[in-house]
Amino acid sequence: MNNKLKVGIDIHGVIDTFPERFKYLSTALYKDGAEVHIVTGIKRDACVDKLLADAGIMFTHYFSIVEHLEATEENIKWVNGRPYAAEDKWDNAKRDYCKAQGIDLMFDDSPIYLPTFNDIDSTYLHVINQ
Ligand SMILES: [Mg+2]
Repeated sequence: MNNKLKVGIDIHGVIDTFPERFKYLSTALYKDGAEVHIVTGIKRDACVDKLLADAGIMFTHYFSIVEHLEATEENIKWVNGRPYAAEDKWDNAKRDYCKAQGIDLMFDDSPIYLPTFNDIDSTYLHVINQ
């Protein structure tokens, strides 16, 4: 329990794309005492919990952009089951969370969030699935 790392991992394009790799990584980090934060767009519900459990992901925290925007009373429009909010609010939510939590490494597949990490200490690890 001497690992001080705080690691953020996105779900779509990361955990759901490389479930076995992130099972091993998250388990090793978790067992060593690191914080493993799921940092994703979607709300936590039974489906998400099942996805994470089926993938064998070990984590300590869960952050959802939708839950965060709802809590801050941002306008979210739902179109065909997908959430839409003001672009800057949505695009900066992961960055703001990582900065506030002191996340060391953030695994994410989106090129959209990449530039938002330019001025914070968290390292953005852009996961690219060719
Ligand atoms: Mg993603």
